[in-house]
Amino acid sequence: MYEAKKKKSGYEVFSPDMSFHPIKRLQLETDLHRAIQEGEFRVYYQPLVELAPNRISEVEALVRWEHPEHGLLYPAEFLSQAEETGLILEIDRFVLREASRQVREWQERHVSELPLMLSVNLSTKHFRSPNMVEEISQTLKETGLDPRTLKLEITESFAIEDVELTESILRKLKGQGITLVIDDFGTGYASLFNLKRLSVDCLKIDRSFTENLGHDPETKAVVRTIIEFARALGLRVTGEGIETAEQLAQLRELGCTWGQGYYFAHPLPGAAVSMLFAEAPADDSSGSGIRLDEQNRANSSKP
Ligand code: C2E
Ligand code: MG
Ligand code: MG
Repeated sequence: MYEAKKKKSGYEVFSPDMSFHPIKRLQLETDLHRAIQEGEFRVYYQPLVELAPNRISEVEALVRWEHPEHGLLYPAEFLSQAEETGLILEIDRFVLREASRQVREWQERHVSELPLMLSVNLSTKHFRSPNMVEEISQTLKETGLDPRTLKLEITESFAIEDVELTESILRKLKGQGITLVIDDFGTGYASLFNLKRLSVDCLKIDRSFTENLGHDPETKAVVRTIIEFARALGLRVTGEGIETAEQLAQLRELGCTWGQGYYFAHPLPGAAVSMLFAEAPADDSSGSGIRLDEQNRANSSKP
């Protein structure tokens, strides 16, 4: 009720962190401030794989918090409060800078012709902040990352919140050569018309679909439709949350050409991804990525 009143939305779906005691919330906020100042955030990278042959052509940057008392914290434990307090802006800026620097280094060291792409998640607050596009361009200049190798992920629901504003921001980003991705697709009820208008480049099918693929024929029909529709609009489709060979086979059968999930690799610290790249056989045929064969897939599955 308090959340709904605060956001003037009329209703809000309960999530466990809303039940946080006010003192705990205050503590978290204080901790978040300290974490930014002390540099306690880390960037983990999860490979995205171009299917058949399986090649790592991209990594998604995912934030983690190395809390001095509580250990490694995941976004679910702090992101909503970081959003509420606006501290998410600092976190997003840090992730973009650090990930751009790291991926630029990998591009130089490992992948030649068609370079490794970087995907970064953008919060609503960040996306709507003034000068966001200029700020991102500046970070790319400073880190040396080619804008054509950056993808920005926004969730479906927020992409359609204010289509006109989103459209104008997206147009500016595209003008810089940056690619746009709709994350968690299938959960936010975007209309086909809006997606076309927003000229996004890629959809990521939400994990909840992948999870139910094997045992629910209706889910399969929905995923088939999403893939066909994406193809008609010229969008690339990535299946999220692939955990089993069976889910991978199903997605492939439905025409999905990109995948991400624990089956291939967990999100890993930069050093672990460097090792994965160093161990992976180079792909001589096209130079367009790092092959992920059975051997290094198994090694990379450890978080
Ligand atoms: P997302 O962008 O949809 O990222 C994918 C999430 O799914 C990640 O959770 C990843 O660890 C998890 N995942 C990947 N493969 C599998 C799988 O096979 N099975 C299961 N069960 N999960 C899988 P994570 O890292 O906890 O991030 C959660 C969300 O937090 C992200 O969802 C994204 O929306 C947000 N987030 C993460 N990093 C950032 C950031 O730097 N900035 C912003 N604004 N949001 C971020
Ligand atoms: Mg994402
Ligand atoms: Mg997602």
